[in-house]
Amino acid sequence: MAEVSVKNVTKKFGNFTALDDVSMEFPDGGFFALLGPSGSGKTTLLRTIAGFLFADSGSIHIGNKSVDLIPVEKREIGMMFQNYALFPNMTIADNVGFGLRVRKVSSDEERRRIGEALELVQLSTLGDRKPHQLSGGQRQRVALARAIVTNPRVLLLDEPLSALDKSLRVDMQVELKRIQHEIGITTIFVTHDQEEALTLSDKIGILREGRMIQSGPPRSVYNNPVDRFTAEFLGDAN
Ligand code: ADP
Repeated sequence: MAEVSVKNVTKKFGNFTALDDVSMEFPDGGFFALLGPSGSGKTTLLRTIAGFLFADSGSIHIGNKSVDLIPVEKREIGMMFQNYALFPNMTIADNVGFGLRVRKVSSDEERRRIGEALELVQLSTLGDRKPHQLSGGQRQRVALARAIVTNPRVLLLDEPLSALDKSLRVDMQVELKRIQHEIGITTIFVTHDQEEALTLSDKIGILREGRMIQSGPPRSVYNNPVDRFTAEFLGDAN
């Protein structure tokens, strides 16, 4: 069964159709990239999966439950955005543990989970520092630790690497893939970078003007683009 299943989702903002009858399956434990030009609906789809936006029609399931029926605090979704904000006056450990506060876990459990998350992103020794004492790449990893500390079923990433310079970006791609593989979390990654999508993912979905025009394993989409637009769009990866 797919961990996340999007079926015939339409989302309008006033008269503007941002998502038009979009469907895509995201099998358990996979790494998926949503690709498409700016304004094609990638972020809207991610926010609709997260339950921040409601679809006008269609359905989104996580496991066998419709997202509409899962209260926000029980949604088991971790999120990370391009402009991830860390709390400047809180330590790294407190930043990571923030999502646990609202879940009312015991302080022992909180410490254990923060320790595990920091270890996963290889920042175990920096828990007492403040964000300004870390490099950009390290802060990015703190944001990732914060997204996974609650043991979510699904990780949603909206252009998480686009603020980084090229070499850091490649390091973080490798790191992200390692962590995703290690914890086996179903991950949906929004990017406008074709190369990033083709390198990282098990399956890609290409959006254009709110429609899912093609989805499948990156190599098969790359080798058999559905139309000239897709061929040219993916050609930018060369
Ligand atoms: P992408 O992530 O692919 O760049 P978005 O999902 O952010 O695209 O946006 C898709 C379209 O929906 C854009 O034309 C955008 O202007 C529009 N849109 C997104 N959010 C809103 C909103 N809250 N109100 C009105 N229009 C919106």
